[in-house]
Amino acid sequence: MASFTLHGIPVSRGISIGRAHLLTPAALDVKHYLVPEEQVEAEVARLQDAIAEVHRGLQALWTELPKDAPTELGAFIDVHALILSDPMISEAPLDIIRTRHYNAEWALVTQIDELSSQFDEIEDEYLRERKHDIQQVAERVLKVLMGSASAMPPSFPAGEDHAPPSMIVVAHDISPADMLAFRDRDGENRSFIGFVTDVGGQNSHTAIVARSLDIPAVVGLSQASRLIEQDDWVIIDGDAGVVICNPSQLVLEQYRARQAALIKARKRLLKLKKTPAVTKDGTAITLLANIELPDDCPGALEAGAMGVGLFRSEFLFMGRGPNGLKVPGEDEQFEQYRKAVVAMKGRPVTIRTLDVGADKPLDPTEHTALNPALGLRAIRYCLAEPQLFLTQLRAILRASAYGKVRILIPMLAHAFEIDQTLAMIEQAKAQLRAEGVKYDPGVEVGAMIEIPAAALALPMFVKRMQFLSIGTNDLIQYLLAIDRVDYEVAHLYNPLHPAVLNLIAHTIATGHKAGLDVAVCGEMAGDPKLTRLLLGMGLREFSMHPAQLLAVKQEILNSDLAAITTRTRRILRAVEPDEIAAAVEQLQNLG
Ligand code: PEP
Ligand code: MG
Repeated sequence: MASFTLHGIPVSRGISIGRAHLLTPAALDVKHYLVPEEQVEAEVARLQDAIAEVHRGLQALWTELPKDAPTELGAFIDVHALILSDPMISEAPLDIIRTRHYNAEWALVTQIDELSSQFDEIEDEYLRERKHDIQQVAERVLKVLMGSASAMPPSFPAGEDHAPPSMIVVAHDISPADMLAFRDRDGENRSFIGFVTDVGGQNSHTAIVARSLDIPAVVGLSQASRLIEQDDWVIIDGDAGVVICNPSQLVLEQYRARQAALIKARKRLLKLKKTPAVTKDGTAITLLANIELPDDCPGALEAGAMGVGLFRSEFLFMGRGPNGLKVPGEDEQFEQYRKAVVAMKGRPVTIRTLDVGADKPLDPTEHTALNPALGLRAIRYCLAEPQLFLTQLRAILRASAYGKVRILIPMLAHAFEIDQTLAMIEQAKAQLRAEGVKYDPGVEVGAMIEIPAAALALPMFVKRMQFLSIGTNDLIQYLLAIDRVDYEVAHLYNPLHPAVLNLIAHTIATGHKAGLDVAVCGEMAGDPKLTRLLLGMGLREFSMHPAQLLAVKQEILNSDLAAITTRTRRILRAVEPDEIAAAVEQLQNLG
């Protein structure tokens, strides 16, 4: 098999070596996990039972047809029954379960996708359109399967013999919700060891969730899902953004050696877990965790996080069924927020209010605006849906009775948005008080600084807010006019652009001057190559995925603030990109 190399955008570090597992878009809509050998026949039976039930349902439809029903109706039921009996539907997916160990839903959509693409090539229009009948039949079966009990992934028994195969997911695209589902469904004994996609940007939310999984990932590879074949051997170099397909033995060995060295280096870092994050000259730095779900808290504590700097609450709202509108109610949200607060054992938990829209749509099936990143996103959406917002605020406030909670508001740009938000928080408090429900009256409210206008109009914010958190992911997107999820402009997404650096430095300085805590919770905070630069700008609070925390801490421990600050001032005055990049590298190599 010919070896070839693809270059993309590195999004999650490290090296993975495994077999390719191609995921089609349809397969992403259903649960997908591997079934252990001993459960394969049970899974086969589950699919057979579902098919039989759909058969019975069709028969019942037939017998219940009113006498005067149009003849097409009976014919339509016949066609569906015939399709269901065809071995392509009733047998081929069973083979997929037996050979590839896919769960029933995944096996079925894999087969349907295969059939659909065959149908697309048929010239006869009538026959080509039968594709929709097949899809409808499959949907009937899926509906039954999804209602059947064992729809969750089993955990793989421990031990070498049963170790799950190491799979690298290859897909055209993966939505943030699907990526999160990988983490949830795949559980502790992960069978997926890397991700490769055709599209996506470095700081898309899909990439961010991939980083939180802490396994290598490369996006924006353009043609990966077309060129890589099922079961091909693949190496992901998550640092370089390189994917090597069918590597030679020599290349494989080189990467295995690099992989072993990386694992060793990571193990060394673990020693820093309990070491306080203090610079060489004795300045204490606060290291916080970015989380998606409360279950991330133990991992955050384990990595030595001093609290949660960003709880992306929208992940509680996403991937909840086809219309996406089954939003969690107040009690469900409260339980989740409380879980995070309790898990952090008295450390602060910064809960960001719902940041939906753009690449995190609440309802993926809904028509999206032409420029969703500039549309009804985050706080704009919440203020347009006051009931939904109030429900979330009440839930967050209720959780504040169980530990230190801070409320963080995304995408603010206008004074009236801040005022309306604060008024709604007061309204939520008043309601709770009237109901005799406990909450912490001293809950701090802060703003994400992620729209350039906000960074350029800070007095408006510092007057009204109690803390600031810089969202560099969006700040860069909006400042440089680069869609953060579009791989075609990813090369223009440059955190070291002088405009970006100066705006960040200005925000930190202005916030501090006003006596406010200022954090960075965008991806820049978790990049150890930028730690010293941010320290030099005066940043004292970093929030990042727990997996990045120890590497950043190591940088902090080796940093001499006085030397860094002088050099950073020079970097901020520089205008030439090459000069800036070289100076940042020098900063990095400073003793
Ligand atoms: C950011 O924009 O930097 C940020 C932290 O928020 P998100 O990535 O969720 O948009
Ligand atoms: Mg943002």
